[in-house]
Amino acid sequence: MKIVILSRGPQLYSTQSLFRAALRRGHQSRIVDHTRCHLLVEKGKMTIYHDGFVVDQPDAIIPRIGTSVTARGAAVISQFESLDLITTVGSSPLIQARDKLKTLQKMAGNGIDVPGTAYLSSNENLLSVIDRLGGFPVVIKLLEGTHGIGVILAETLKSAEATIEAFQKLKERVIIQEFIAEARGADIRAIVIAGQVVASMKRQAKAGEFRSNLHRGATATPVQLTKQEEEIVIKATKVMGLEIAGVDLLRSERGPLIMEINASPGLEGIETTTGTDVAGKIIKFLERRFRMQKEAARKRNRD
Ligand code: ADP
Repeated sequence: MKIVILSRGPQLYSTQSLFRAALRRGHQSRIVDHTRCHLLVEKGKMTIYHDGFVVDQPDAIIPRIGTSVTARGAAVISQFESLDLITTVGSSPLIQARDKLKTLQKMAGNGIDVPGTAYLSSNENLLSVIDRLGGFPVVIKLLEGTHGIGVILAETLKSAEATIEAFQKLKERVIIQEFIAEARGADIRAIVIAGQVVASMKRQAKAGEFRSNLHRGATATPVQLTKQEEEIVIKATKVMGLEIAGVDLLRSERGPLIMEINASPGLEGIETTTGTDVAGKIIKFLERRFRMQKEAARKRNRD
């Protein structure tokens, strides 16, 4: 197969891991920086230029789009999608998963439990909303944050108001969330590929911190999901239209709560913690889809 990895950082762990896995399995692989792509849209013709040169149509793409360039990355994926090839993530599911509120709405709307969450148009009635969420403390987070940046624990009405106002001033959208104290600074990250959990780890925040992001000094250990957790995690990816995803959940007294779904999950933490060759499994997934696509084309030609 000819595989294009869309990534701004050829040296990044995940990009390298995927690139090497593709080569190991005998594929041609190339890294294209989506922020350096021009897109030409003409009747019946879609062209993608990278640094001024036309990108030959690959068989599959693996988008690794950072949060700061979601819209640009999605436009490039969309152009590739119109060429009828295989992708590990579509442009629409990527955009949807980047919005924490949209993700939670999809989850809750499909019967999947989430931490109680509010999205307010103003600070009016803030106290009664927080009461409804179970009272203080509450978690205030940026809708499109990452690595735990913009995830704040507010213990009082004063600090909640001040935090929300500060974000509003910066024109950032925020959500207010029930704080799941019993998770004790831990969350679970599960990687799902085509309806199967292939690796899972528990991340534990360092002392005095409730955010369990590895970027914030958390430690990770492999973990076995319960049957219930496994079912929810798989359902969550289906609801989001994602075949490959990293699903984050909190273990609460009322069962697993889906917190977030990452359409472009980092591989370093999960591969080094669990020893699972996730990149290799992603390439094998593309191979299966490629075979299915060829089979379908053969069948169409026969009929
Ligand atoms: P990011 O996408 O920036 O990583 P998250 O929403 O995943 O932001 O939050 C970062 C971390 O903060 C989570 O991994 C989790 O450990 C903790 N956290 C987030 N929301 C809650 C919550 N409602 N209750 C308890 N802990 C939370």
